[in-house]
Amino acid sequence: MNGRRPRVLGPTVDDETRCVHYRTPLDVIAIKFGCCREFYPCHLCHAETADHGAAQWPMDGRAEQAVLCGVCGHLLTIAGYLDANACPACAADFNPSCKLHAELYFEI
Ligand SMILES: [Zn+2]
Ligand SMILES: [Zn+2]
Ligand SMILES: [Zn+2]
Repeated sequence: MNGRRPRVLGPTVDDETRCVHYRTPLDVIAIKFGCCREFYPCHLCHAETADHGAAQWPMDGRAEQAVLCGVCGHLLTIAGYLDANACPACAADFNPSCKLHAELYFEI
């Protein structure tokens, strides 16, 4: 854990960004939303907590460091996340099911 990780909003249930909606051992990422530039564990957290609708990152935002590994605090770019099955810094596995609804967060 490093002390400089961004805050994660919404109903989290632990310090690794698991939330009331997604809390399996693999659910360890939070995503910075393009609309408010705040990190949330998932789209449901954003929908329940934010006072506005979620905006997806556009295709030209792929270099944005918008994905947080909740295990080690490493930030991935959107492009790096979409390419990865695990954290490049700490090797924590990411939930492959998250990619099934990547279009909720990123223009695909
Ligand atoms: Zn937002
Ligand atoms: Zn959630
Ligand atoms: Zn990590």
